[in-house]
Amino acid sequence: MTPLEFTPRHRHLVRFSPKRVAHVFTDVLIIGGGIAGLRAVLALEPGLSAVVVTKDLLKVSNSAQAQGGIAGVLDPLDDFSHHTADTIAAGKGLCDPAVVEMVVKEAPQRIRELIEIGTRFDETDGQIDLTREGGHSHRRIVHAHGDATGREVMRALQETAVERDGVQVWQNTFTIDLLTVGGNCRGAIVHDPERPTTCVWAKQTILATGGAGRLFRETTNPEIATADGHAIAFRAGAELRDMEFMQFHPTVLYIAGSSRHLITEAVRGEGAWLRDGNGHRFMPDYDQAAELAPRDVVSKAITEQMSRTNHPCVYLDLSHLDPDFVRRRFPHIAKVCADFGLDIASDQVPVRPGAHYMIGGVTTDEQGRTSLPGLWAAGEVTSTGLHGANRLASNSLIEGLVFGARAGEAASRAAREIPNDFAVPAIGSDWESVEGDDEELNITDLRNALSSLMWRQVGIERTEETMRDAAEQVEFWDRFVSNREFADVSGWELQNLLLVAQLMIAAARSRTESRGVHFRKDFPETDSEQAIPIEIASILGPG
Ligand SMILES: Cc1cc2nc3c(=O)[nH]c(=O)nc-3n(C[C@H](O)[C@H](O)[C@H](O)COP(=O)(O)OP(=O)(O)OC[C@H]3O[C@@H](n4cnc5c(N)ncnc54)[C@H](O)[C@@H]3O)c2cc1C
Repeated sequence: MTPLEFTPRHRHLVRFSPKRVAHVFTDVLIIGGGIAGLRAVLALEPGLSAVVVTKDLLKVSNSAQAQGGIAGVLDPLDDFSHHTADTIAAGKGLCDPAVVEMVVKEAPQRIRELIEIGTRFDETDGQIDLTREGGHSHRRIVHAHGDATGREVMRALQETAVERDGVQVWQNTFTIDLLTVGGNCRGAIVHDPERPTTCVWAKQTILATGGAGRLFRETTNPEIATADGHAIAFRAGAELRDMEFMQFHPTVLYIAGSSRHLITEAVRGEGAWLRDGNGHRFMPDYDQAAELAPRDVVSKAITEQMSRTNHPCVYLDLSHLDPDFVRRRFPHIAKVCADFGLDIASDQVPVRPGAHYMIGGVTTDEQGRTSLPGLWAAGEVTSTGLHGANRLASNSLIEGLVFGARAGEAASRAAREIPNDFAVPAIGSDWESVEGDDEELNITDLRNALSSLMWRQVGIERTEETMRDAAEQVEFWDRFVSNREFADVSGWELQNLLLVAQLMIAAARSRTESRGVHFRKDFPETDSEQAIPIEIASILGPG
């Protein structure tokens, strides 16, 4: 397929002159302090300096929210070939088999390293407890504190990474754009409300900014997941791939007024059933694997069943399982449900799907190298070829670990070869017209309108008609939003979301088939001719 092309309205979101900003020099800049960014920190060669920037506090990330666990072959009865086959089966013809094999083989070692730095995974009789999730043929998911795996892993990673010599962590620091000189990435321009706007000049930059769930009204992602990394890489000229593939998690707690808590797949792995509004257990009607079918199958079945029964949600039923086991195994979810007066072990728990994991992203090779020299990427912001058209549960934390380590090592090696140079290149950004006044714009209203539009028209089910309308609407908003210069994070996030929405819609319209998490009602079949990724090239904009 010929790559799609798209021109961002501006190369940079803000106008700047090197004479009027602060400058900092470092060997490696790491944008993002989730699992991928912090694993990259641990892989840096001793002696190198590094700056890690996070837009919120370090403890706020998709990684910290992860519940189910991390996939890896640790059971002697399991085998690399099984994990590889399960991943490729879920990816529906779009996985890169070499990348899958590489990640699967490195996974056990990356998990053991987490234990070495102090992560305490759950154990039974002194052995790591392995659970099973949808799409996995064996028990191979390590977990911690029952269903709070991310919190425990991030605790250990944070404690270790911030102690590293030469590493500075700048929290509440928003990366506005990458800096490029002569076609090479040379760092980023960042904003901390407490400091002057700063150019961080780096010999090598690693992008690890996570996901894009906030593009959709219903999502499991925290507020930071606004697709910034996808947008800033694209504006700098890096290629993106597979942008049509957003994975919707089938079971997100649905109680009006509550935040959208994810109910981990492991609940179904341990035997929970899904019932519709009439009490009917419907998954066996849709798939042989019933509740253990892959996520896209379960999400689609739930959407279909909600429409058939004209009911706003379906229900998870754990009442046939041992109540003590349920409360012990899922203490976090039990507590969240209890806060809303529900007993997870006996009540029917209302759920429906929500945007969960951004499969598409910045194209990388096996080292995490992007198409923009000097820029490496790892974690959810990437498209590495591991997930194909659908991510297998618990394969993303392991992807962040494997590619974080690889990008950290490769960026270190590349940084070592570049001599120190503390001169500031003569670049800046100075586009012409700045339209309108920030105060005329209700950014929250526009964000809500965008995420509702994406949910309704580019969500679990898509058609050319719904997406064409969405494209026109987003383009209209983008026309007046992106010609303004904002001075704070909410405006920049909106601009990033609008850009990435356009890229997602363009990719989804051009894939005229259904595959994995991309379901087109007007093209319900998979077309073997389209078993190739869709790449999007950035035609660099002005300024
Ligand atoms: C509720 C939930 C449960 C999940 N459960 C699992 C699971 O059990 N197993 C599994 O494998 N996966 C799970 N996932 C997916 C997994 O957590 C993520 O894919 C993974 O953690 C992404 O890691 P990351 O390092 O790429 O990004 P994140 O952990 O999201 O970190 C992103 C970092 O980038 C920073 N950042 C973003 N934009 C900017 C910017 N403009 N400037 C500066 N910094 C920026 C953020 O501040 C943050 O530090 C879950 C996801 C969610 C939301």
